[in-house]
Amino acid sequence: MANKRPMTKKKSNFKSNKPNNRPGNRPTVSTAAKKPRPIEKNAEPIEKIVRYKNNLTVLELSEQLHRPVSEVIKKLMFMRIMASQTQSVDRETAEILALDYGFELQDEVMSDLTRFDELVIEDDPKDLIERPAVVTIMGHVDHGKTTLLDTIRHARVVDTEAGGITQHIGAYQVERAGKAITFIDTPGHAAFTEMRARGAKVTDIVVLVVAADDGVMPQTKEAIDHARASKCSIIVAVNKMDKPNANPERVKQELADLNLLPDDWGGETPYCYISALNGTGVNELLDTIQLVAEMLELKANPKRNAIGTVIEAKLDKGRGPVATILISNGTLKIGDAFVVGNTYGKIRGMNDDLGRSLHKAKPGAAVEINGLSDVPLAGDALMVFDDERVTKDIAQKRSDRQFSEHHSTKKTVSLEDFFRRAEGNIKEMRLIIKADTQGSIEAFKGSIDKINIEGTQIDIVRTGVGAITDTDVTLAEASNAIIIGFDVQAPANVRDTASTRGVEIRDYRVIYEALEDIEAAMKGMLDPEFEKRIIGEAEVRETFSISKIGTIAGCMVTSGVIRRDADVKLIRNGKVIYEGKIQSLKRFKDDVKEVKQGYDCGIMIENYNDIKVDDVIEASQMKEVPMNG
Ligand code: GDP
Repeated sequence: MANKRPMTKKKSNFKSNKPNNRPGNRPTVSTAAKKPRPIEKNAEPIEKIVRYKNNLTVLELSEQLHRPVSEVIKKLMFMRIMASQTQSVDRETAEILALDYGFELQDEVMSDLTRFDELVIEDDPKDLIERPAVVTIMGHVDHGKTTLLDTIRHARVVDTEAGGITQHIGAYQVERAGKAITFIDTPGHAAFTEMRARGAKVTDIVVLVVAADDGVMPQTKEAIDHARASKCSIIVAVNKMDKPNANPERVKQELADLNLLPDDWGGETPYCYISALNGTGVNELLDTIQLVAEMLELKANPKRNAIGTVIEAKLDKGRGPVATILISNGTLKIGDAFVVGNTYGKIRGMNDDLGRSLHKAKPGAAVEINGLSDVPLAGDALMVFDDERVTKDIAQKRSDRQFSEHHSTKKTVSLEDFFRRAEGNIKEMRLIIKADTQGSIEAFKGSIDKINIEGTQIDIVRTGVGAITDTDVTLAEASNAIIIGFDVQAPANVRDTASTRGVEIRDYRVIYEALEDIEAAMKGMLDPEFEKRIIGEAEVRETFSISKIGTIAGCMVTSGVIRRDADVKLIRNGKVIYEGKIQSLKRFKDDVKEVKQGYDCGIMIENYNDIKVDDVIEASQMKEVPMNG
């Protein structure tokens, strides 16, 4: 805080642009503020706004005011505030100075604006209207997903006068009986799960395509798991009915065994019998989708600012970064300022998959936008903001946060944090179970049913015989599940993926041990565990070899902090070449406990001297995983 005399002014007086309203008990300041200085021509401030943040320094203030720092210091002296350029100014002082220069003071964006998922905007029920269902087509390879998507796309009546050329933007809409349905145009599970893993749930209904001549196959089961884990409604499309060897009864039986009991057998799952190739039954499928959509009562508010999700994004040679956005709520308009993922922009152009340019797009629509400052990722959330000026700042903060989260190698899903992730009142533990035999799976499921702890429930997302795979990890990440393996392997690359994605794999040889752990976790009684977290990195800039002592690495701490008692990894060209402890940590000649980012230091590694310039020393420490039982 700058060294200044106490000020007794009431804050409310400073909200207006009328400096003369200020009380007269602070003559020095008010005199200055009475004569707003004209902005000189060559000063060229881009926007006349000062963004105030805690500990704003005099230098930062002068930069925002586009004035020399010496001038601002002089001003402060007139206000009887003696401050150097590195000292901070309080909000009141900053506001007085800002007003004096004809600037407006705004508080810097609150960081919680960056967490879209927490920015719940309640819609007034009377603003809500029906929105189109969003459908993803899934199923085993070669069962006809792409053919079905093509058939539906081509069957729609296209208004050729208004239309341009059909183009792939990652999603398209069809209209039937005056109502639209949005189809995600990337068949398969990878895109669906990746998007869910990034927190996006865009799909309402999954159409599960099963070839009548082939029946249920591994990816059919996987698709069911994905659809269930994301709580989508499932419609079964028994495809290739035109084939002579089509056997829909067998398909029905196989799916009934997987708890998809057909509606014509008295079950709840709608079944349609189609030929994607020649179009038979496709209209009935669309009708069924509409029926299911009606039951889901999908609503959205077209009056609010849009929120949505990136379906696809790319760098276009002519237009720069473009992205297809599926609008989940609100109306997206030309000129809207937005943040998407870690980037931002202003809608300059919008078109649908027929190449028609649009001025606005309603909830449930998928539109390709341009006007982005960078290419976002599929699954990124988009949010429109009224104030264009905050978007860049929010995008930057999201990017910073992502960087630091990525570097903290934190576990997102583990038995320990099960209670921390409680959803609502019922705490649900999701599990993926892999075992060497179907028998073990059944035995485990049977025992788990017997665990009965009030207020908790177990949801088995997927079971399977065989090794733990990347698909299991992706599904676990997307559904916040823990992977339990009985006597099965997880290859090293799968374990790596799991650890970078924060998915816990727990290996057991006997069922009762797993049950004990799960029960304990559900009661919140697991012993505290320790996990290793990266605390900082240093780059080796010079090395000194001293006989009898060893190699001292002259380093610059480039992130976080290096602590004397940390574990270290020595990384060369991206590869870990040694792991050990620090022998000594010095600043100049002094032994120190820690050295923070931006400072140089001397590091010796215990029992290791082969350190080279440009190596990176990564420090980590064990940290107790807090319990929350
Ligand atoms: P995807 O891998 O699930 O996307 O499957 P495709 O749509 O690429 O179809 C795989 C093969 O099955 C292609 O040769 C299609 O022509 C064929 N196919 C798809 N649907 C039908 C159908 O209804 N009847 C027949 N006879 N063949 C089909």
